[in-house]
Amino acid sequence: MIYLDHNATMPPASAVAQAMLSILTDAWGNASPQHAVGQQAKGALAAARATIARALGCEPAELIFTSGATEANHLAVCGLHAAAPGGRHRGVFSAIEHAAHLKLARALAARAVAVDYIAVRPDGTLDLDSAAALIGPDVGVESLMAANNETGVLMPVAEVRDLVHSAGARLHVDATQFIGRLPFHFVQSGVDAVSLSPHKLRVPKGIGTLLVRHGVTLVPQVQGSQERHRRGGTENLPAIAGFAAVLERISDVASEAARVAALLDALEQGLRCALPAVHVFSAQASRLPGTSYLRFGEVPAEVVLQRIELLGVAAMDVPRDEALAAVRLSLAKPLRRRTLSTCSPICRRCFVHCWRKQRIPLERALNLSSISGVRNHESHDPQGQQGRAERLRAKEGPGGAHCRDGAARDVGRSRHARERLATRIARDGRRYAAAHHGRSAAHCGRGGVR
Ligand code: PMP
Repeated sequence: MIYLDHNATMPPASAVAQAMLSILTDAWGNASPQHAVGQQAKGALAAARATIARALGCEPAELIFTSGATEANHLAVCGLHAAAPGGRHRGVFSAIEHAAHLKLARALAARAVAVDYIAVRPDGTLDLDSAAALIGPDVGVESLMAANNETGVLMPVAEVRDLVHSAGARLHVDATQFIGRLPFHFVQSGVDAVSLSPHKLRVPKGIGTLLVRHGVTLVPQVQGSQERHRRGGTENLPAIAGFAAVLERISDVASEAARVAALLDALEQGLRCALPAVHVFSAQASRLPGTSYLRFGEVPAEVVLQRIELLGVAAMDVPRDEALAAVRLSLAKPLRRRTLSTCSPICRRCFVHCWRKQRIPLERALNLSSISGVRNHESHDPQGQQGRAERLRAKEGPGGAHCRDGAARDVGRSRHARERLATRIARDGRRYAAAHHGRSAAHCGRGGVR
């Protein structure tokens, strides 16, 4: 199985497993009690905290361990909102926060907290005019993700930070998909709170981290004496030690980012060549190095995902109300170019299979000129901004300038070129059907090529 869902989670690193095992055998105590076993655990926790703080560019006291990024996000927003001075009653979220975080926003609104959403442009980037219009003197906290988990689009954190701070409010950043993939330093970021999720960095699930700038007050949401009374509950020391072990070994984030970006470029080019119906969303925006959010013609995502998994690739879909046909491929260490080179033919076979199974005319399945007819899946804006497709089509053209067979360039140019392409895919479809279903090629031309 080629695992291309690294934004969902990553396989634990062996150094992490070793660090966790050593805690489970040698420092398994609860870090709170005064006895020797507790003190040993306390020492291990302090050492891990210091390592993590050093790697993230913060003070150890600025770190709060939680159960995951969902809880860290919740603590940041609710804790900062509750600590905001009177008159700062409004909370602002970007419209494309993680689904759980948007649920929190809706829950706050249901509890009569004033909540507003910063709009997102059709290419998945944040609309700074909307941010400037919404951030004012009545705002207590603004919450913004550093990079979108589906499209990988990077958000303008520094610009929003300046808007928020000049309005006297607090900025919380959900850097779950960002940290470890692009260089990060908490103090230099100048923001008030940052959440992250170590299981996106090769640590097992069940631990999260919130960084809170020294001097920023936060009202705890889970009572208890741990984490300087800011988050109650016994710390997950094995996972925290595993997190420290992984951060200790991350040496050069920038060059790894460049390597993964080159892998992603090659994968997208290969896909466009093998299957010109592939459309990459937010292709022109600044994105995380390893995230590609794409559509296989107009074949529905769930059909593609079922098939692609059978063919040996693990990808991820997005909720049905957000995307008709989009899947997400996300890359990270230790993927190599050779492994990825098998993906394009797999995706082409997958498309051919799905097209035949779906019984949609090939012309429709492939037709890039119908992008604008696809339901609003290019924008994550809950208000449903339209028009992205048109702009993307104008900007991106048929794509695939480096494709050897020029197939991608054919698409969308002329009816004749599209027909040539359709003939090629249909031929593949007949071969595929003959090979997989033992049927004669002559009987497999269902619907013909329209
Ligand atoms: N925020 C973002 C941007 C995410 O991608 C995720 C995980 N998909 C979360 C928050 C939630 O993280 P966790 O699983 O640690 O609760």
